Amino acid sequence: MIRSDNHIHSSFSTDSRSSMKDICIKAKDMGLSSICFTDHMDYEFPEKYNLPEYSEKGSALPLFTFDPELYFQSTKETERAFPELEIRTGIELGLKSRIRPKALELTKKYPFDFVIGSTHLVEDIDPYYPEYWDAFGEEKGILRYYETTLENIKADFDFDVYGHIDYILRYLPAVRDALKNNSSFEAIFTKTMSDHAEILREILSLLIKNGRGIEINTAGFKYGLGHPNPHETLISYYRELGGEIISIGSDAHEPKHLGFSFEKVPDILKKAGFSHYTEFHQRKPKQVPLN
Ligand SMILES: [Zn+2]
Ligand SMILES: [Zn+2]
Repeated sequence: MIRSDNHIHSSFSTDSRSSMKDICIKAKDMGLSSICFTDHMDYEFPEKYNLPEYSEKGSALPLFTFDPELYFQSTKETERAFPELEIRTGIELGLKSRIRPKALELTKKYPFDFVIGSTHLVEDIDPYYPEYWDAFGEEKGILRYYETTLENIKADFDFDVYGHIDYILRYLPAVRDALKNNSSFEAIFTKTMSDHAEILREILSLLIKNGRGIEINTAGFKYGLGHPNPHETLISYYRELGGEIISIGSDAHEPKHLGFSFEKVPDILKKAGFSHYTEFHQRKPKQVPLN
């Protein structure tokens, strides 16, 4: 059983209202032994995506950013309140080439345990919104997402694992329609992975070459995809190409989603040829055997 959740958003993230305390109470109840907070730091996120519910939180900071001093203070206080739980301080950095200097300065200055690098925007457009698919269309929309990810990896940001590599598939209109109509979308997944196999292998190979890992983000199950992000096929590619570093996270924004579908993860890992998963402490990988 996986007893460590390494992708969690607390109220330090613009899109979460969950206190660190409530998350820890739930983690304890579930029998998790460790958690890693990975709040959003998505510098220069377009203000047009500022939702009314975000404004209600009353933060004066730019969208999807937090004050690192307060963040570390809060994780330290939470650690003291929950001595039985191992609590680590991570971050999910939204990568885009122009913010690289700021991102490098941040990870150099603060002692994060773990840094997830993620693509959340392509050319400043969020694929969550129809605007993205209107701008690019389905084919190009998927390709541009992977190309942007590859550019971010080539730009050599400072991160440990790349977040939810095929996140774009969550928002693919054909998948959303299938979900709405209760029809199958397995064929869509199979086709898009084979259509983009070359760039996906390039992404995974470069991550391996640069000593970086991937994550199994179980929010895909929460979205009803029936698969984690990335899809099992990509997890197998990563292993076949020699990848060893693989963290596990729920991407929970609420306590009730902690450890979501983690019971499915050991089998997914074993089928892909892994006998371990990875946790990060002070930016160093620790391989935890599957039992
Ligand atoms: Zn993310
Ligand atoms: Zn996240």
